[in-house]
Formats: sequence, structure tokens, C-alpha cells
Amino acid sequence: SFASVVDVLSGEIAVGSEITVRGWVRTRRDSKAGISFINIHDGSCFDAVQAVVPSEVDNYQSEVVKLTTGCSVAVTGTVAESAGQGQAFELQATKVHVYGWVEDPDTYPMSPKRHSMEYLREHAHLRTRTNVTGAVMRVRNCLSQALHRFFHEQGYLWVSTPIITASDAEGAGEMFRVSTLDMMNIPKKDNGQIDYAQDFFGKEAFLTVSGQLNVESYACSLSKVYTFGPTFRAENSNTSRHLSEFWMVEPEVAFADLNDIAGLAESMLKYAFKAVLTERADDMAFFQQRIDSGVIDRLQQVIEQDFVHMDYTDAVEILQNCGKKFEYPVAWGTDLQSEHERYLAEVHVGAPIILKNYPKDIKAFYMRQNDDGKTVAAMDVLAPGIGEIIGGSAREERLDVLDARLDEMQLPKEQYSWYRDLRRYGTVPHAGFGLGFERLVTYVTGMQNIRDVIPFPRAPKSADF
Ligand code: ATP
Ligand code: MG
Ligand code: MG
Ligand code: MG
Repeated sequence: SFASVVDVLSGEIAVGSEITVRGWVRTRRDSKAGISFINIHDGSCFDAVQAVVPSEVDNYQSEVVKLTTGCSVAVTGTVAESAGQGQAFELQATKVHVYGWVEDPDTYPMSPKRHSMEYLREHAHLRTRTNVTGAVMRVRNCLSQALHRFFHEQGYLWVSTPIITASDAEGAGEMFRVSTLDMMNIPKKDNGQIDYAQDFFGKEAFLTVSGQLNVESYACSLSKVYTFGPTFRAENSNTSRHLSEFWMVEPEVAFADLNDIAGLAESMLKYAFKAVLTERADDMAFFQQRIDSGVIDRLQQVIEQDFVHMDYTDAVEILQNCGKKFEYPVAWGTDLQSEHERYLAEVHVGAPIILKNYPKDIKAFYMRQNDDGKTVAAMDVLAPGIGEIIGGSAREERLDVLDARLDEMQLPKEQYSWYRDLRRYGTVPHAGFGLGFERLVTYVTGMQNIRDVIPFPRAPKSADF
């Protein structure tokens, strides 16, 4: 019968059982005594299983001793306790079948030496075979499963929001346009501009920057909902924390205020951290050893402590008086840069921090205005090493206040008419947030660049594969 590597290494399969493991060769070593040791990985866990292949197998000389890193094989044998250090179990092979050879092993791009992250990114279709990408993707999967489980256990409904949309939820003008391939043939208006009324959707359409506006309409009837899907932003910044295509987890809660969703963010993050530490201990040990020596302790600590809350206004004062020279000066009313966010989380608190009540002029139109007339009920969760991982707010549920804000920001009311309807018919206070999923994976793994925690990163000048 077939078994995966994790079944063998975890001791799930009784010693003495005959099984077949299928996977890829990580390394091969031959002993003088005419035995070969082949390490096989199949993605099911961090470690590879060692197959001990005696020279008696039929194709020992013709094939086994020619196996190189990356070859695909099926090895049949008996599960045995391993005498050596390392794994507790190994496979005493009786048969080795080769599915596929590696053409010219000397030029195999994933040769078993250490490669730079930049190099791996250029081989995104093959970096899947490396330890680091395997570990990242298992942790990523664990986190996304944990988040779904968290919301499910709390009674949330998962709704899918559209990827193609007509509205700019953030009003930041960072959208990609969606059109048909023959856009160039669409009739032009008198002024020479493309007449989008003639285009496929009958208006200008875009890839969504956030599912929030849509998910609000579900929260304002089904009460507790979340969306978890891809979002797109034409960020012109080449940073290690921005992607053009990233995934966002966006819960939206009726009858909730800012502190409710701050609490939700805290329990959600802690739930996800616990899941990763217990379910992916093997991969986390690798990150601790090779990527970031503090990563496990850090998560453990965060789980045990209450998150610190702070007002934007107090944060500005701290940043101005901390004596550190920042590249960008801090003044009340300016958006915080990642260096400021990181200082607050890393140096000032040493843990994730929840910053609240930002100036309204640096935030989106939909955030609920506070009574001071200057700030909105917004919150960001800032994490050490990264900065913002979550942005959220109470939403403006008062139609007159929302309309005044749309006018003030010169946003077209007609375009938001459906959104305004939610305030016209049985409006309720509600609040929600967006967690940048790749920022979470970056934080949990200690990886340096967000492009290394998504299978195929999209960034300016980079949309290969
Ligand atoms: P930043 O200030 O870092 O550019 P933002 O304030 O523009 O982020 P929001 O509109 O608040 O981002 O989006 C919600 C969350 O989505 C952010 O807290 C962040 O975790 C994530 N996020 C935003 N932009 C990106 C991006 N380009 N790539 C990856 N994640 C992103
Ligand atoms: Mg941004
Ligand atoms: Mg921000
Ligand atoms: Mg934000």
C-alpha cells in the first residue's frame, strides 16, 4: 500500500509493514558496503524519509546509484526503526521505481546547495521543491485553515465577495482596470477617450482592492460574516511588504464597535499562532533555526499577553519624543510610515500593538467619525518587524454623516448609491477589519520578504509563471 512520508516518520505505520513511498530524491549517499541511502520528500512534512537500498535490488547499478536530487521515485520496502540519529523510522527498500530523471544534474536549478531568496523567486515554479518553500506553504495552509476554523467556531458565515468591481473601496486610486482584449477597438468618445459604456461591463471595471464594501451588505443582514479572497493593488512601491496581488481576511460584524473588533483581531491572531505552533512544529523549528532565531518564543509570548492599545495621538507624541531619527518626520495628521509602525511595535512595546483613532483625513471615507470632529474610529494592528498587518474601523452608519464625507472628499455619490442604501434601510452600527494574509505569514515565519510567502508573487515588473 502507499504511504506518505509523514505517515512513516510519525510512527503511524507499524514497524514491519510493507509500503511504497512516492516522492522526490533530496539526497543520495552510497556506502562502500554497497548500500545507498536515499532521502525522499513528498511535501507531507518537513523531513525526508531515508530509504536504505541494498545492492540486491534489480536496478541498483543501472539506476539507483545514478539517482540525483530532484529525481522522482517510488520506493517499496519495510518500515523499520532507524539505528542512526535523526529520524526514528526508515524504509528498508526492496524495490526502486524511477518515474523521472533530472536532465543534466549539473545544471539542475534546485541543486542541493543554499540558494538566495532572489534566485528562488526567479524559479518560482521550482522553488516549491526547497525546504524553505515547502515549510512556508505548509505554515500558510495551516494559518488559512485555522482562520476559517476560528470564524466557523465563532458562528461567522464565509461569504465570497466579487473580484471584479466598479468601486474603489479605499479611494486610493491603486486599481487595475478590467477590460476585454479588444479594448482598443471600443468606440471612443468625442474627446478621444475610451467610452467605457461600450466596454464589456458597460462601465469602467476594476479588480477589487478590498471586499469590505460588499461584505458590509452581508453583515448588515446576516450579522457576522467574513470574506477571504484575493485582492489587487497597483502599488507602485517595491517594498518587502507589498504585493500587487495578495489575500485578505475581512470579518465584518453588525452591532460591533471599534473595541469589539480590536478584541476579535486579538483572539483571531492568538488562535492562529497557537494552531501553527502545535500543528506545524516541524516547520516552525526550521524557521527558528534557519530564518529567525526568535520566532517561536515571540509567538508564544504574544499568545500569553494582552495586546497593548494606544491612541494615534499618543503614538505621535511617543515617536516625536523617542529621540530616534526617522527618515520621515512625524506630525499629527500624517500617516505613519512602516519605520514608525515598526518602532512602536518592536521597540516601544516589543509585541503587536493596536493603534486607534486616526486623523480622518488620512483614512478612507467609510470610517466612523468620532465626536471630536478630527478623528475616526479606526484601528491598525502593528507587528514587530513588519508594521501594519491589520487595518480596520467602525463604519459610518449615519447616512447624513457619510454623505457629508463623500462630498467633502469629492467622491461621486451615485457610484456609492447601493452602499448608501445600507444606511437608508435599517442601518446599524457595524465594524470590521482586513488582515493582510501574507503579512501574517511573514510575521509567523520570520521570513524577510512578502514575495517569499505567496506561491507566485505579483509585483511591479513581475508577473511571470
Ligand atoms: P500599508 O499602509 O502597509 O500600505 P494599507 O493601510 O494601505 O497598508 P489597508 O488598505 O488597510 O492597507 O489593507 C488592509 C491590510 O491589507 C493591511 O493592513 C495589510 O496587512 C494588507 N495589505 C495592504 N496592502 C497590501 C499589499 N500591497 N500587499 C500585501 N498586503 C497588503
Ligand atoms: Mg497601502
Ligand atoms: Mg496603512
Ligand atoms: Mg491600513
